[in-house]
Amino acid sequence: MLPTRKSPRPHLDDPYLKKLRYTEPTVCPKCGIVYIDKRWQYRPRFSPPADTKYRKCPACRKIEDHYAMGLVFLSGDFIPEHEEEITHLIQNQGRQSFRRNPLDRLMSMVKVKDGYRIETTTEHLALTLGRALYHAYGGELEYRFSEDQKVVRVYWHRDQAKERR
Ligand SMILES: [Zn+2]
Repeated sequence: MLPTRKSPRPHLDDPYLKKLRYTEPTVCPKCGIVYIDKRWQYRPRFSPPADTKYRKCPACRKIEDHYAMGLVFLSGDFIPEHEEEITHLIQNQGRQSFRRNPLDRLMSMVKVKDGYRIETTTEHLALTLGRALYHAYGGELEYRFSEDQKVVRVYWHRDQAKERR
């Protein structure tokens, strides 16, 4: 098993942010976000000038490469009873994060034997989802950062019976 880090914060550089330099403005042809003022931004009303470049953003490249930097595991018998609610919470959180920091994306949410497995493009979003679940429903939350790879595993567990809030 991976060692557990004390502080839940990103600790290694994101290779997808280092590989490419973008000129300003650049628009991602896939998701429409804009690179301006040295960062990718959600700008739904942006009207691209003639010299705008079009290149895929780091989040869309990660999704294409299936390069997840966050994994969130949901488990416990609380989940089947609250499936719809939990799915909505994850999707809402994903949409909110996209507007605030458009490189935070949900890559997948797959049903597994004892719950769900979610993949995200950033550590940040995985941590955000874990905290949102914990704040909404209690349960147990744990983070595990890998030492050599930029990926965080977030475990959220809640059982129906023993929970008293
Ligand atoms: Zn994009």
